[in-house]
Amino acid sequence: MTRAALPACPNREGAPPLDNPLSMFGSMVFGDAEMRERLPADVYAALTGTIREGKKLDASIVDIVAEALRDWAMSKGVTHFSHWFQPLTGVTAEKHDSFIGADANGGMVAKFTGKDLVRGEPDASSLPSGGLRATFEARGYTAWDPTSYAFIKEGILCIPSTFYSYGGAALDKKTPLLRSMECISVQAVRLLHLIGETGVKRVYPMLGLEQEYFLIDRDLYKQRRDLVFCGRTLFGAKPPKGQELDDHYYGEIKPRVLGFMKELNEELWKLGILAKTEHNETAPAQHELAPIHTTMNTAADHNQLTMEMMRKVAEKHNFACLLHEKPFEGVNGSAKHNNWSLSTDAGRNLFDYGKDPMRNTAFLLFLTAVIAAADERQDLLRLSAAGLGNDMRLGANEAPPAIMSIYLGDELTSVFEAIENGAQAAPVRKTAFKNGVKTQPEFTRDTSDRNRTSPFAFTGNKLEFRMLGSSFSASELNIVLNTIVAEQLNAFSDRLERDGCSEEAVMRLIRETYKKHRRILFNGNNYAGEWRAEAKRRRLLNLETAVDALPHYISKKNISLFINYGIFSHEEILSRYEVLLEGYIKAMRIEALTMLDMARSQILPAASAFSGKLADSALRLKTLSADAECAYETDTAERISELASSLHKKALDLDNALRDESGKTGDLLTNARYYKDTVMPRMRELRIEADAIEPLIARSDWPYPGYADLLSGV
Ligand code: ADP
Ligand code: MG
Repeated sequence: MTRAALPACPNREGAPPLDNPLSMFGSMVFGDAEMRERLPADVYAALTGTIREGKKLDASIVDIVAEALRDWAMSKGVTHFSHWFQPLTGVTAEKHDSFIGADANGGMVAKFTGKDLVRGEPDASSLPSGGLRATFEARGYTAWDPTSYAFIKEGILCIPSTFYSYGGAALDKKTPLLRSMECISVQAVRLLHLIGETGVKRVYPMLGLEQEYFLIDRDLYKQRRDLVFCGRTLFGAKPPKGQELDDHYYGEIKPRVLGFMKELNEELWKLGILAKTEHNETAPAQHELAPIHTTMNTAADHNQLTMEMMRKVAEKHNFACLLHEKPFEGVNGSAKHNNWSLSTDAGRNLFDYGKDPMRNTAFLLFLTAVIAAADERQDLLRLSAAGLGNDMRLGANEAPPAIMSIYLGDELTSVFEAIENGAQAAPVRKTAFKNGVKTQPEFTRDTSDRNRTSPFAFTGNKLEFRMLGSSFSASELNIVLNTIVAEQLNAFSDRLERDGCSEEAVMRLIRETYKKHRRILFNGNNYAGEWRAEAKRRRLLNLETAVDALPHYISKKNISLFINYGIFSHEEILSRYEVLLEGYIKAMRIEALTMLDMARSQILPAASAFSGKLADSALRLKTLSADAECAYETDTAERISELASSLHKKALDLDNALRDESGKTGDLLTNARYYKDTVMPRMRELRIEADAIEPLIARSDWPYPGYADLLSGV
């Protein structure tokens, strides 16, 4: 990859070196360095105590912090601030206020107080609450989250915040994430202390999110209502070339895309986001960006910012960035890979097994807890990746099936087998990688291969959950992960407290837990049909669609889990469940209406006009020569007319299905099922006819750009 940036040496004329572009890192963040410089030492100490050690925030410091924040922001030309939060819409929300205050003489002063910092009161009656807040109760509060650094985005000082109803129920994605981080820290520390690691004070979940996306030309994008309204194509005949040749993955990045990536990286670096890896993905026009992992709350915030910046920077480069899970049929969809691990306050990764996993008690216990958690709560993991868009991706030959399983790799599988048999596994030895070329430096090889088909893979020192859809907020999944692992850690501690913590008791615990839950382990090819059969034999859950998965949210067993661990109140769970179902129904309704709109106002008129054109030219040709065959014109006109009639009828069918739905007052789940079972099949039918018409019509007469243009238009 060539890139103009990163000059480290003087240029030819002997001029001084250009600024190192990495020096912009964090320049728009009120991070540790700014805090240390701008805050009095005792205030800095109190604030970092909250950030790093989770101590309660000392209320007396907030005015001082607010003032420093304001001065810092104003030094960068900022005039407005906003609480920046993550409502249940899945995107972020902000409401801008200026620093302007009035002084006694009617003049202006710059004002931003501790109160402004700590609390906001957006009129939030139009944000989803799943029935938690009636729309006439407009009041909602945002509250500063000091554990995530404030930053400047597009000239606005953004204060990462949580969001609550007037009654105090969480209406956002961050609050339960913070609760779950605390929860797993408490349980992890408790277990570590029991096995003698008493120096650990806190444990942090660490998160690295790989973000896949599509970039297409914006002028083409704007011509398609399906892309504009739904973020994905609802029609589109297969192009002659898709991803068959595997020539896009890791392929050379086009200059126009490189320009986008360069600016995106710079914008992200300014926001303190460690954007690190970028490459082309499998499908044409598909790419990926991965930052370096960091503490979970920050990583989740950063991912939201990354998605926002991707859209904005794309626009500047006349691209549209598609974050939908399945923008195009027939080529791979997009995921967000969720790399999760646990780190102690001393920075030790608890999933780093070192040379001798067999003797790494903490590692074995934590990994066993993950295995047990994934088996015990398959439904929760599945439903944290449930949504209409992801339904189109999961289970295809590109993404894990909807069945949960864990890939451990051969090495660790043999460790667990040894434990099961009371035997010893040999320490892990990294071997040198040899390729027969003498001129290349040697390096060591990872101890196990990868498995890209597994929904949940142990990848060396972390667990990679690969089911999550590209457009998802990372919060739901990680709330679940933290909580279900905490549940197991808690059970382990209870048992060790009862049985004592001898080496033998610990090994017995691991052995029994492994035996009980090993059905969740699968190292083979998850895409293969045999796995489905095997999973059935193992009685693993197969919740194929979002509508099958979502009701598990409110099973008795899951509700009590969340309540017991202080993650959600009963009403908070119900509200989230409603928001998810509502989101599913609304998204499908918009798609169905968009399809009808395109079919009736674009596809059918184009079909009719073009078949008329063909008929006209056949007539004219016949006047030239009475025995002109005009096979192309007449056959095609006839075929188009047949397909158009059928399309017209199928549009009526879909229309009727949508009308039937509007008369219903059933509960949300019944409604969602109706959409899945009645509306969706009609949408599919409609598409088949339209996609059959498209290749018959002259390209110049088709009303919007097709797949070939979209996928290779850059
Ligand atoms: P791949 O595509 O091979 O999975 P990438 O480099 O694209 O690898 O992404 C791996 C992601 O996992 C990065 O975001 C990286 O920071 C993250 N990661 C690495 N180690 C850890 C860890 N201990 N905990 C959480 N995430 C991690
Ligand atoms: Mg990757």
